Amino acid sequence: MPPMRYHHPSRTRRIAKWTGLVVCVVVVVAWAVSLVITLGYGVPPWLFGIGEGAVAATHADSTGDEYADIRGFLFDGWVRPPVLLPSVNRRLCYTTMTVPLWIPLLPLSVGTAWLWCRDRKPPPGYCQRCGYDLTGNTSGVCPECGEGV
Ligand SMILES: [Zn+2]
Repeated sequence: MPPMRYHHPSRTRRIAKWTGLVVCVVVVVAWAVSLVITLGYGVPPWLFGIGEGAVAATHADSTGDEYADIRGFLFDGWVRPPVLLPSVNRRLCYTTMTVPLWIPLLPLSVGTAWLWCRDRKPPPGYCQRCGYDLTGNTSGVCPECGEGV
């Protein structure tokens, strides 16, 4: 019987790793795009949008002509640096909640990086050099490659 070896990460973990990576890339791309253009979608009295490096939701008390001015409603004007901090702004007739995209990106990228790093090395209980299963090993030396345990 061939020796038991550390097997490559499970299918679920592989899916989680790649999903995390794809989502991170999507968020980074959305952040970059949002610095150039503002996109919004209105479901009166709500307005949802992305722009200035953030996602925003506005609740308007009235839905007049100004409602069409997505950027004006979601963000404060046409020329602004990227949004860095989350905020809730109560203005005359509408309330805007803004969350910069780095906030979801931070835990997402840390978690994804952790998943990727974790799979680079065999888990404890396996030879860190060759991946041989060291369960029950008493010699203190890997029988496969001679590495000290
Ligand atoms: Zn070994």
